[in-house]
Order: sequence, then C-alpha cells, then structure tokens
Amino acid sequence: MAVRKPGLIALFDVDGTLSAPRKVATPQMLEFIGELRKVVTVGVVGGSDLSKISEQLGKTVINDYDYVFSENGLVAHKYGKLIGTQSVKSFLGEGNLKELINYILHYIADLDIPIKRGTFIEFRNGMLNVSPIGRNCSQEERDEFEKYDKVQNVRPKMISVLREKFAHLNLTFSIGGQISFDVFPQGWDKTYCLRFLEDFHEIHFFGDKTYKGGNDHEIYESERTVGHTVTSPEDTMQQCKALFLANP
Ligand SMILES: [Mg+2]
Repeated sequence: MAVRKPGLIALFDVDGTLSAPRKVATPQMLEFIGELRKVVTVGVVGGSDLSKISEQLGKTVINDYDYVFSENGLVAHKYGKLIGTQSVKSFLGEGNLKELINYILHYIADLDIPIKRGTFIEFRNGMLNVSPIGRNCSQEERDEFEKYDKVQNVRPKMISVLREKFAHLNLTFSIGGQISFDVFPQGWDKTYCLRFLEDFHEIHFFGDKTYKGGNDHEIYESERTVGHTVTSPEDTMQQCKALFLANP
C-alpha cells in the first residue's frame, strides 16, 4: 500500500451511495472499493449500527475499509480495530437523561391527540426516538397520524417546548418519518466521525443526501471535507474513477 496518497481519504455514505437504499451492495461495488483502496485510503460513515452496515456491505466490512464509522462514528473502527465508542447515556449522564425522559412522558400523557398506542420513547445508543402516538401503531394509524400532524403540528410544537426547556443540554431535534422525531446531542451528525481523521488534509466525502435537511448535509458542507453529491452507487463509482483512478 506504499503507493497510496498520504493524507488523502475517500469517505463514503452507505445508503444510496455504496448500495441502493436499504439494500445490499453489489459485488461490482465491493470489487471497486477493493481496487480504490490500492490507491487511496477508504472509509465509510453510516447512520445505522454496525450490524445493519455489515448486512449491507458484508460481514468483513471492518477489514474491507480502513475506517468504518457506524452510528455516524459513535462506534469507530480503524483497520478492523475498535478505536472509539460514545453513547447518549454516557454523554448526558443518568440525571439529565431521566429529567428529559420524565418530561417527555409527562408531555405525551397530557397530549390530546385522537389515538395513542405504545412505545412513546425508544432508547437507542446514540439517540432517543420520540413518538407522540407510539411506535406500536399500525400502518393505517401511522398514515392517519402523519396527516393529523401536518395540520396540527404536534411534533413541531413538542420540539419547540423541549428545545426551550432543555436548552442547556444542547440537543438537536430532527423530524424524520411519519410518527416520530430523534433527539441527540448537537454535532452527532456525520461530522462526528471527522475527529478520527485529524491526520488527513484532503477528505473527499461522497453522499446522496447532501441537500439541507439531508443526513449528509453537515459533513458535505464541512470546511474539513471536499463534498461530492452522488445520485446512485453507479454514479459513485464513475465519480471516483474520474477523481482517483484516471491515469495521470
Ligand atoms: Mg445516503
């Protein structure tokens, strides 16, 4: 690997960039990454946890890439070895977390909406997922809630209250999907992984959701990266070939 360009890394989003959304990457893509890795250092950063990323990119993913950042880098691997872990539990501490959870549960208890089901807060490693109707609702109930929320702004109203009440915790609130929103510390988007790449002066990032509000936006816009928007895994390969594999 002596020929690899020092200080340069090609860093990839997973869904929509290396694989079709929520699908397994093609053998052509895996082969392509292998070829690319002979020329430049390669890394991957995805919002999902490592088991989900392994399903998409293969069981040997932590050895197939120089860097693998799952959960946006809250779990970080370099050359197959774990180099960092972070969680909302250890970051906020039990006291703050309990205060936040208690407040959310009280808020939902007092909320007058047409129906409620179960699992109002799903506790994950890197975030809380909050759902006013409850995640156990049926697809039909989901669709109904989504329509209701568009008119009544249940989630935006709840977020503005939480944002003010817990301003001291510097949290980010992100509405995604039909029935819930995510709560996580500020900066825990894909830029989180950049702290592990201090040695690189040229970080090329490739992602499909680089627009404002997309989950690649912050890292795409970061001063530390050269951002590339891709439209599909095929487009990712094309752009990389032109950038890194074209003969000088
Ligand atoms: Mg994506």
